Amino acid sequence: MKIETKAVHKGDRKRNPDAPGAFVPSSTPIYTATTYLYEDTAKLDRVLGREEAGFCYGRYDNPTRTGLEELLTELEGGASAQVCSSGMMAIHVALLAALTDRRKSVLAADALYGATVTLLTQVLEPMGVEVNFVDICNLNAVEQKIAASKPGCIVMETMSNPLLRVGDMERVAELARDCGAALLVDNTFASPLLVRPMEHGANLVVESLTKFLAGHGDVLGGVVVTDQAHADVVRTLSRTLGPVLGPFESFLTMRGIKTFVLRVERQCANACRIASWLQSHPRIARVHYPADPNHPDAAVIRRLLPEGLYGALVPFEIKDATKEDVFRFMDKLKLVVRGTTLADVHSLLLYPAIASHREIAPKQRQRMGISDGLVRLCAGIEAVDDIIADLDQALS
Ligand code: PLP
Repeated sequence: MKIETKAVHKGDRKRNPDAPGAFVPSSTPIYTATTYLYEDTAKLDRVLGREEAGFCYGRYDNPTRTGLEELLTELEGGASAQVCSSGMMAIHVALLAALTDRRKSVLAADALYGATVTLLTQVLEPMGVEVNFVDICNLNAVEQKIAASKPGCIVMETMSNPLLRVGDMERVAELARDCGAALLVDNTFASPLLVRPMEHGANLVVESLTKFLAGHGDVLGGVVVTDQAHADVVRTLSRTLGPVLGPFESFLTMRGIKTFVLRVERQCANACRIASWLQSHPRIARVHYPADPNHPDAAVIRRLLPEGLYGALVPFEIKDATKEDVFRFMDKLKLVVRGTTLADVHSLLLYPAIASHREIAPKQRQRMGISDGLVRLCAGIEAVDDIIADLDQALS
Protein backbone atom coordinates (compact mmCIF):
# COMPACT_ATOMS: atom_id res chain seq x y z
CA MET A 1 0.00 0.00 0.00
CA LYS A 2 1.32 3.47 -0.89
CA ILE A 3 1.60 6.23 1.73
CA GLU A 4 -1.33 8.18 0.21
CA THR A 5 -3.61 5.17 0.81
CA LYS A 6 -2.23 4.37 4.26
CA ALA A 7 -2.82 7.97 5.37
CA VAL A 8 -6.52 7.63 4.61
CA HIS A 9 -7.20 4.05 5.79
CA LYS A 10 -4.82 2.86 8.51
CA GLY A 11 -5.72 2.90 12.21
CA ASP A 12 -9.47 3.42 11.67
CA ARG A 13 -12.63 1.33 11.60
CA LYS A 14 -12.32 -0.89 14.67
CA ARG A 15 -15.30 -3.19 15.14
CA ASN A 16 -17.14 -2.91 18.45
CA PRO A 17 -18.82 -6.31 18.80
CA ASP A 18 -20.61 -5.46 22.08
CA ALA A 19 -22.28 -2.28 20.85
CA PRO A 20 -25.94 -2.48 19.75
CA GLY A 21 -25.86 -3.43 16.08
CA ALA A 22 -22.15 -4.37 16.39
CA PHE A 23 -21.23 -1.31 14.32
CA VAL A 24 -17.93 -0.26 12.79
CA PRO A 25 -17.32 3.51 13.07
CA SER A 26 -16.00 4.89 9.77
CA SER A 27 -13.49 7.10 11.59
CA THR A 28 -11.93 6.58 15.03
CA PRO A 29 -14.11 8.09 17.80
CA ILE A 30 -12.79 10.20 20.67
CA TYR A 31 -12.66 7.93 23.72
CA THR A 32 -12.38 10.07 26.84
CA ALA A 33 -12.72 7.32 29.47
CA THR A 34 -9.63 6.81 31.61
CA THR A 35 -10.60 3.29 32.76
CA TYR A 36 -11.92 0.33 30.77
CA LEU A 37 -14.02 -2.39 32.39
CA TYR A 38 -14.40 -6.12 31.78
CA GLU A 39 -17.13 -8.41 33.14
CA ASP A 40 -14.61 -11.10 33.73
CA THR A 41 -11.72 -10.23 36.13
CA ALA A 42 -9.56 -12.94 34.58
CA LYS A 43 -9.73 -11.00 31.31
CA LEU A 44 -8.73 -7.75 33.07
CA ASP A 45 -5.81 -9.70 34.54
CA ARG A 46 -4.74 -10.85 31.06
CA VAL A 47 -5.07 -7.32 29.61
CA LEU A 48 -3.07 -5.80 32.49
CA GLY A 49 -0.45 -8.48 32.00
CA ARG A 50 -0.35 -7.71 28.25
CA GLU A 51 -1.19 -11.35 27.44
CA GLU A 52 -4.31 -10.17 25.65
CA ALA A 53 -5.01 -7.01 23.63
CA GLY A 54 -7.29 -4.52 25.37
CA PHE A 55 -7.46 -1.27 27.27
CA CYS A 56 -7.44 -0.78 31.02
CA TYR A 57 -6.08 2.65 31.96
CA GLY A 58 -5.60 5.89 30.01
CA ARG A 59 -1.94 6.37 30.80
CA TYR A 60 -1.17 2.95 29.35
CA ASP A 61 -3.41 2.90 26.29
CA ASN A 62 -6.40 4.67 24.82
CA PRO A 63 -8.36 3.49 21.75
CA THR A 64 -8.16 6.88 19.99
CA ARG A 65 -4.44 7.18 20.65
CA THR A 66 -3.84 3.57 19.60
CA GLY A 67 -5.56 4.23 16.26
CA LEU A 68 -3.19 7.15 15.67
CA GLU A 69 -0.18 5.07 16.73
CA GLU A 70 -1.09 2.30 14.28
CA LEU A 71 -1.41 4.89 11.52
CA LEU A 72 1.96 6.50 12.31
CA THR A 73 3.70 3.10 12.54
CA GLU A 74 2.48 2.39 9.00
CA LEU A 75 3.38 5.83 7.62
CA GLU A 76 6.95 5.69 8.97
CA GLY A 77 7.53 1.97 8.33
CA GLY A 78 8.50 1.25 11.95
CA ALA A 79 7.71 -1.59 14.37
CA SER A 80 5.69 0.57 16.77
CA ALA A 81 4.90 4.18 17.69
CA GLN A 82 4.12 6.09 20.88
CA VAL A 83 2.45 9.48 20.56
CA CYS A 84 3.35 12.17 23.05
CA SER A 85 2.03 15.54 24.17
CA SER A 86 4.61 17.48 22.09
CA GLY A 87 7.50 16.96 19.71
CA MET A 88 9.91 17.84 22.53
CA MET A 89 8.38 15.20 24.79
CA ALA A 90 8.83 12.66 22.00
CA ILE A 91 12.52 13.62 21.65
CA HIS A 92 13.00 13.28 25.42
CA VAL A 93 11.40 9.80 25.49
CA ALA A 94 13.41 8.72 22.43
CA LEU A 95 16.70 9.87 24.00
CA LEU A 96 15.94 8.07 27.27
CA ALA A 97 15.06 4.91 25.33
CA ALA A 98 18.24 5.08 23.22
CA LEU A 99 20.47 5.53 26.28
CA THR A 100 18.82 2.98 28.58
CA ASP A 101 21.20 0.12 27.81
CA ARG A 102 24.04 2.10 26.29
CA ARG A 103 26.89 4.42 27.18
CA LYS A 104 25.45 7.69 28.51
CA SER A 105 26.99 9.71 25.70
CA VAL A 106 25.22 11.56 22.88
CA LEU A 107 26.78 12.77 19.64
CA ALA A 108 24.45 15.39 18.18
CA ALA A 109 24.36 17.34 14.93
CA ASP A 110 25.45 20.91 15.62
CA ALA A 111 22.45 22.47 13.83
CA LEU A 112 19.59 20.97 15.85
CA TYR A 113 16.33 22.64 16.86
CA GLY A 114 17.12 25.01 19.77
CA ALA A 115 14.97 23.24 22.38
CA THR A 116 16.65 19.92 21.53
CA VAL A 117 20.03 21.54 22.24
CA THR A 118 18.62 22.87 25.54
CA LEU A 119 17.31 19.39 26.42
CA LEU A 120 20.74 17.91 25.76
CA THR A 121 22.86 20.58 27.45
CA GLN A 122 20.61 21.80 30.28
CA VAL A 123 18.66 18.65 31.21
CA LEU A 124 20.63 15.53 30.22
CA GLU A 125 24.20 16.85 30.57
CA PRO A 126 23.74 18.00 34.20
CA MET A 127 22.38 14.51 34.91
CA GLY A 128 25.66 12.96 33.79
CA VAL A 129 25.11 12.35 30.07
CA GLU A 130 28.13 13.33 27.96
CA VAL A 131 27.06 15.56 25.04
CA ASN A 132 29.19 16.32 21.98
CA PHE A 133 28.29 18.15 18.78
CA VAL A 134 29.51 17.62 15.22
CA ASP A 135 28.85 18.88 11.70
CA ILE A 136 26.70 15.94 10.59
CA CYS A 137 27.32 16.77 6.90
CA ASN A 138 31.07 16.20 7.39
CA LEU A 139 31.43 12.40 7.61
CA ASN A 140 35.15 12.55 8.46
CA ALA A 141 34.36 14.75 11.43
CA VAL A 142 31.55 12.37 12.45
CA GLU A 143 33.94 9.37 12.34
CA GLN A 144 36.53 11.22 14.43
CA LYS A 145 33.97 12.30 17.03
CA ILE A 146 32.59 8.76 17.24
CA ALA A 147 36.08 7.41 17.88
CA ALA A 148 36.75 10.06 20.53
CA SER A 149 33.40 10.05 22.36
CA LYS A 150 32.04 6.49 21.82
CA PRO A 151 28.41 7.65 21.77
CA GLY A 152 25.44 5.55 22.85
CA CYS A 153 23.19 7.65 20.65
CA ILE A 154 23.66 9.80 17.54
CA VAL A 155 21.04 12.51 16.98
CA MET A 156 20.39 14.28 13.69
CA GLU A 157 17.59 16.06 11.82
CA THR A 158 16.75 15.09 8.24
CA MET A 159 17.00 18.75 7.24
CA SER A 160 18.72 21.29 9.47
CA ASN A 161 17.11 24.50 10.65
CA PRO A 162 17.20 27.07 9.13
CA LEU A 163 19.66 26.41 6.27
CA LEU A 164 18.28 23.01 5.21
CA ARG A 165 21.57 21.12 5.23
CA VAL A 166 20.96 17.41 4.57
CA GLY A 167 23.31 14.85 6.18
CA ASP A 168 23.99 11.42 4.69
CA MET A 169 21.60 9.50 6.95
CA GLU A 170 22.47 6.09 5.51
CA ARG A 171 26.19 6.52 6.09
CA VAL A 172 25.61 7.94 9.59
CA ALA A 173 23.36 4.91 10.32
CA GLU A 174 26.21 2.57 9.29
CA LEU A 175 28.67 4.43 11.51
CA ALA A 176 26.17 4.28 14.40
CA ARG A 177 25.66 0.53 13.89
CA ASP A 178 29.42 -0.10 13.78
CA CYS A 179 29.94 1.57 17.16
CA GLY A 180 26.81 0.12 18.83
CA ALA A 181 25.02 3.47 19.02
CA ALA A 182 21.34 4.06 18.27
CA LEU A 183 20.54 6.55 15.49
CA LEU A 184 17.74 8.95 16.42
CA VAL A 185 16.41 11.10 13.56
CA ASP A 186 14.09 14.09 13.96
CA ASN A 187 12.18 14.03 10.67
CA THR A 188 9.92 17.02 11.40
CA PHE A 189 11.11 19.25 8.51
CA ALA A 190 10.79 16.49 5.90
CA SER A 191 7.71 14.51 7.04
CA PRO A 192 7.29 10.82 6.08
CA LEU A 193 6.16 11.84 2.59
CA LEU A 194 9.69 12.97 1.71
CA VAL A 195 11.84 10.68 3.87
CA ARG A 196 11.13 7.67 6.05
CA PRO A 197 14.33 7.42 8.14
CA MET A 198 13.55 3.85 9.31
CA GLU A 199 14.11 2.79 5.67
CA HIS A 200 17.58 4.38 5.82
CA GLY A 201 18.78 2.70 9.02
CA ALA A 202 17.42 4.89 11.85
CA ASN A 203 16.47 3.08 15.07
CA LEU A 204 14.19 5.79 16.45
CA VAL A 205 12.36 8.48 14.50
CA VAL A 206 10.71 11.52 16.00
CA GLU A 207 8.20 13.85 14.39
CA SER A 208 6.66 16.96 15.87
CA LEU A 209 3.05 16.15 14.93
CA THR A 210 2.36 19.86 15.50
CA LYS A 211 3.83 20.48 12.02
CA PHE A 212 3.06 18.75 8.69
CA LEU A 213 1.20 15.73 10.05
CA ALA A 214 -1.54 17.44 12.09
CA GLY A 215 -1.00 20.39 9.77
CA HIS A 216 -3.65 22.94 10.79
CA GLY A 217 -1.98 24.85 13.61
CA ASP A 218 -4.39 23.55 16.24
CA VAL A 219 -2.63 20.55 17.82
CA LEU A 220 0.60 20.19 19.79
CA GLY A 221 1.91 16.64 19.61
CA GLY A 222 4.84 14.36 18.89
CA VAL A 223 5.60 10.75 18.07
CA VAL A 224 8.45 8.32 18.64
CA VAL A 225 8.52 5.59 16.00
CA THR A 226 10.85 2.70 16.82
CA ASP A 227 12.40 -0.41 15.38
CA GLN A 228 11.60 -3.74 17.06
CA ALA A 229 14.60 -3.51 19.39
CA HIS A 230 13.40 -0.26 21.02
CA ALA A 231 9.64 -0.89 21.03
CA ASP A 232 9.42 -2.31 24.57
CA VAL A 233 11.61 0.28 26.26
CA VAL A 234 9.66 3.15 24.63
CA ARG A 235 6.37 1.54 25.67
CA THR A 236 7.60 1.08 29.26
CA LEU A 237 8.80 4.70 29.41
CA SER A 238 5.47 5.91 28.06
CA ARG A 239 3.40 3.80 30.48
CA THR A 240 5.55 4.92 33.40
CA LEU A 241 6.08 8.62 32.69
CA GLY A 242 2.70 9.28 31.06
CA PRO A 243 3.87 11.74 28.35
CA VAL A 244 0.82 10.78 26.30
CA LEU A 245 -1.29 12.78 23.85
CA GLY A 246 -4.92 13.33 24.87
CA PRO A 247 -7.79 11.67 22.96
CA PHE A 248 -9.07 14.91 21.40
CA GLU A 249 -5.61 15.86 20.09
CA SER A 250 -5.13 12.27 18.86
CA PHE A 251 -8.41 12.55 16.94
CA LEU A 252 -7.45 15.92 15.42
CA THR A 253 -4.06 14.55 14.37
CA MET A 254 -5.62 11.48 12.70
CA ARG A 255 -8.04 13.74 10.90
CA GLY A 256 -5.18 16.01 9.78
CA ILE A 257 -3.11 13.08 8.52
CA LYS A 258 -5.84 12.00 6.08
CA THR A 259 -5.01 15.03 3.90
CA PHE A 260 -1.33 15.33 4.76
CA VAL A 261 -0.03 13.98 1.44
CA LEU A 262 -2.17 16.40 -0.59
CA ARG A 263 -1.15 19.31 1.61
CA VAL A 264 2.57 18.57 1.62
CA GLU A 265 2.67 17.94 -2.15
CA ARG A 266 1.03 21.33 -2.72
CA GLN A 267 3.31 23.01 -0.18
CA CYS A 268 6.40 21.56 -1.86
CA ALA A 269 5.20 22.67 -5.31
CA ASN A 270 4.50 26.18 -3.98
CA ALA A 271 7.90 26.30 -2.24
CA CYS A 272 9.67 25.29 -5.47
CA ARG A 273 7.97 28.09 -7.44
CA ILE A 274 8.65 30.65 -4.71
CA ALA A 275 12.32 29.60 -4.47
CA SER A 276 12.92 30.08 -8.19
CA TRP A 277 11.03 33.41 -8.16
CA LEU A 278 13.13 34.64 -5.22
CA GLN A 279 16.34 33.50 -6.92
CA SER A 280 15.92 36.11 -9.66
CA HIS A 281 14.61 38.89 -7.40
CA PRO A 282 17.00 41.89 -7.25
CA ARG A 283 16.59 42.30 -3.47
CA ILE A 284 17.48 38.69 -2.66
CA ALA A 285 21.12 37.76 -1.99
CA ARG A 286 20.68 34.01 -1.61
CA VAL A 287 18.04 31.27 -1.51
CA HIS A 288 18.82 28.02 0.36
CA TYR A 289 16.47 25.51 -1.28
CA PRO A 290 17.27 21.78 -1.64
CA ALA A 291 16.16 21.71 -5.32
CA ASP A 292 19.12 23.97 -6.16
CA PRO A 293 21.75 21.89 -8.06
CA ASN A 294 24.41 24.00 -6.31
CA HIS A 295 23.13 23.12 -2.83
CA PRO A 296 26.15 21.96 -0.73
CA ASP A 297 24.46 18.56 -0.13
CA ALA A 298 23.07 18.13 -3.66
CA ALA A 299 24.44 14.57 -4.04
CA VAL A 300 22.82 13.36 -0.79
CA ILE A 301 19.58 15.19 -1.64
CA ARG A 302 19.40 13.39 -5.00
CA ARG A 303 19.64 10.04 -3.20
CA LEU A 304 17.39 10.81 -0.24
CA LEU A 305 14.55 13.03 -1.46
CA PRO A 306 12.00 12.06 -4.11
CA GLU A 307 12.14 14.02 -7.39
CA GLY A 308 10.09 17.20 -7.06
CA LEU A 309 9.53 16.94 -3.28
CA TYR A 310 12.16 19.18 -1.71
CA GLY A 311 10.16 20.43 1.25
CA ALA A 312 7.97 23.42 2.04
CA LEU A 313 10.67 25.54 3.68
CA VAL A 314 12.42 28.29 1.75
CA PRO A 315 15.12 30.14 3.70
CA PHE A 316 16.30 33.29 1.89
CA GLU A 317 18.58 36.25 2.54
CA ILE A 318 17.49 39.80 1.86
CA LYS A 319 20.43 41.71 0.35
CA ASP A 320 22.38 43.82 2.91
CA ALA A 321 19.37 43.81 5.25
CA THR A 322 19.70 44.89 8.86
CA LYS A 323 17.33 43.71 11.58
CA GLU A 324 15.28 46.90 11.09
CA ASP A 325 15.02 46.25 7.32
CA VAL A 326 13.76 42.71 8.01
CA PHE A 327 11.23 44.02 10.56
CA ARG A 328 9.95 46.51 7.92
CA PHE A 329 9.65 43.69 5.35
CA MET A 330 7.78 41.48 7.82
CA ASP A 331 5.45 44.26 8.95
CA LYS A 332 4.40 44.79 5.33
CA LEU A 333 3.32 41.18 4.79
CA LYS A 334 -0.45 40.97 4.45
CA LEU A 335 -1.08 37.30 3.60
CA VAL A 336 1.98 35.46 4.86
CA VAL A 337 1.64 34.99 8.63
CA ARG A 338 4.54 36.02 10.87
CA GLY A 339 4.82 33.05 13.23
CA THR A 340 7.32 30.97 15.16
CA THR A 341 6.20 27.65 13.73
CA LEU A 342 6.02 25.94 10.34
CA ALA A 343 3.89 23.62 8.25
CA ASP A 344 0.41 25.03 8.82
CA VAL A 345 -1.98 25.27 5.86
CA HIS A 346 -1.17 28.99 5.59
CA SER A 347 2.22 30.38 4.62
CA LEU A 348 4.40 31.35 7.57
CA LEU A 349 7.51 33.45 7.88
CA LEU A 350 9.99 33.18 10.74
CA TYR A 351 12.97 35.43 11.48
CA PRO A 352 15.62 33.11 13.03
CA ALA A 353 17.57 35.99 14.62
CA ILE A 354 14.64 36.80 16.93
CA ALA A 355 13.00 33.38 17.14
CA SER A 356 14.66 29.96 16.72
CA HIS A 357 18.22 31.36 17.04
CA ARG A 358 17.51 34.22 19.45
CA GLU A 359 19.64 32.76 22.26
CA ILE A 360 22.73 32.45 20.03
CA ALA A 361 25.19 35.37 20.13
CA PRO A 362 25.19 37.40 16.86
CA LYS A 363 28.83 36.51 16.06
CA GLN A 364 28.15 32.79 16.55
CA ARG A 365 25.02 33.13 14.37
CA GLN A 366 27.14 34.68 11.60
CA ARG A 367 29.62 31.79 11.90
CA MET A 368 26.69 29.37 11.48
CA GLY A 369 25.80 31.16 8.22
CA ILE A 370 22.71 32.80 9.71
CA SER A 371 22.95 36.43 8.64
CA ASP A 372 20.76 39.28 9.94
CA GLY A 373 19.03 39.29 6.54
CA LEU A 374 18.00 35.60 6.66
CA VAL A 375 14.31 34.72 6.97
CA ARG A 376 12.60 31.33 6.67
CA LEU A 377 9.40 30.98 4.72
CA CYS A 378 7.22 27.89 5.00
CA ALA A 379 4.91 27.72 2.00
CA GLY A 380 1.24 27.07 2.72
CA ILE A 381 -1.38 25.64 0.40
CA GLU A 382 -2.67 29.01 -0.89
CA ALA A 383 -2.52 29.92 -4.60
CA VAL A 384 1.19 30.40 -5.18
CA ASP A 385 0.66 33.62 -7.17
CA ASP A 386 -0.96 35.19 -4.10
CA ILE A 387 2.00 34.23 -1.88
CA ILE A 388 4.47 35.63 -4.44
CA ALA A 389 2.46 38.85 -4.82
CA ASP A 390 2.53 39.35 -1.04
CA LEU A 391 6.30 38.77 -0.82
CA ASP A 392 6.83 41.09 -3.79
CA GLN A 393 4.91 44.01 -2.35
CA ALA A 394 6.64 43.56 1.05
CA LEU A 395 10.09 43.42 -0.58
CA SER A 396 9.51 46.52 -2.68
N1 PLP B 1 11.89 19.31 16.13
C1 PLP B 1 11.90 20.31 15.24
C2 PLP B 1 12.78 20.20 14.04
C3 PLP B 1 11.09 21.43 15.43
O1 PLP B 1 11.12 22.44 14.54
C4 PLP B 1 10.26 21.49 16.59
C5 PLP B 1 9.39 22.65 16.84
O2 PLP B 1 9.41 23.64 16.14
C6 PLP B 1 10.30 20.41 17.49
C7 PLP B 1 11.11 19.34 17.23
C8 PLP B 1 9.48 20.42 18.74
O3 PLP B 1 8.14 20.17 18.48
P1 PLP B 1 6.97 20.66 19.45
O4 PLP B 1 6.91 22.14 19.34
O5 PLP B 1 5.77 19.94 18.93
O6 PLP B 1 7.34 20.23 20.83
